[in-house]
Amino acid sequence: MQNKPKLAITGVGKIAVDQHIPSIAETETFELAALVIPRGPAHQTLPTYRSQAEMLATHPDIAAVAICTPPDVRHALVAEALHAGRHVLMEKPPTASLMELEDLRTLAERAERTLFATWHSQFNPAVEAARDRLAGQRIRTVTVTWKEDVRHWHPGQDWIWRAGGFGVFDPGINALSILTRVLPFTPFVASAELLFPANRDTPIAVDLTFKQPMAEAGSHFTAAFDWRQEGEQTWTIDVEPADGPRVTLVRGGTCLMVDGTPVVDDPDREYRAIYRRFRDLVETGTSDVDAAPLRLVADAYLMGRRRETDAFLW
Ligand code: NAP
Repeated sequence: MQNKPKLAITGVGKIAVDQHIPSIAETETFELAALVIPRGPAHQTLPTYRSQAEMLATHPDIAAVAICTPPDVRHALVAEALHAGRHVLMEKPPTASLMELEDLRTLAERAERTLFATWHSQFNPAVEAARDRLAGQRIRTVTVTWKEDVRHWHPGQDWIWRAGGFGVFDPGINALSILTRVLPFTPFVASAELLFPANRDTPIAVDLTFKQPMAEAGSHFTAAFDWRQEGEQTWTIDVEPADGPRVTLVRGGTCLMVDGTPVVDDPDREYRAIYRRFRDLVETGTSDVDAAPLRLVADAYLMGRRRETDAFLW
């Protein structure tokens, strides 16, 4: 492989530490050259900056930035990095609104830089295998069940409850990113019910129904996201074609079952695949900005009924 481009990470929280930093090292796709950490201690060995602007000004040699902040501050940071002539990788959800995402797509084109909106759940081999099996099929039912315990997976992350923080759509958009990848049709939101804790600005549970304009009578497409699940955690997408075997993705898209028999069961290698893809995009001078999962979340808010439930306290 040619010389590794240098890369900085802006926003060094849970996902940057758990996945980005080890995946960059393991794949040898980029050289991690700096971190942007507004508060808290500096990294032991890497140059650490309090603001992205300071990092960009100090390091014209850094070609790319991975932005791993919460989504509501991402637009300004991505725009700043593109203006400074850097390639940008965005964690999911890429932005807090569709307009912000469209704006960044245009900025990247004008700057002739790569923009990569990552959807990590799409990078499972089981997801690609499910897509292949469903290609060209008529689909009778889709049942998405994405139920997890917010206290376990997001301890103390108050940004998820701020407006623009996505609430239960933060994990739910992973399911939507798989759905838009594997289904042989474009799902439309038909109805949505959003359940908000009395003291929070984002939903704790969402029920969605989808429609497909050409769907046969009796088809049924639903998704249930819930952050109040204790005990067993469920991240399952079950698809029943009209004529073929049942296709079920379990454990967040890492395992594919066909008529109940596991056929792909791969440990989680999503982020390594993401960095290989980012390197390819940079080398070929292309971008990858898929807005489909974000569009479904936006439509759920547009079409949704709001209900209120008990206040949420950590
Ligand atoms: P997190 O632990 O709260 O980390 C976010 C980090 O961004 C924090 O360190 C925060 O610093 C920093 N930050 C905020 N504003 C910043 C700014 N303007 N400049 C630089 N840094 C800034 O959140 P996370 O769980 O890592 O999630 C981050 C993103 O990754 C989200 O979009 C999430 O959906 C996605 N993601 C998370 C997971 C997961 O398992 N956690 C999995 C996949 C994807 P302060 O704390 O000092 O504000």
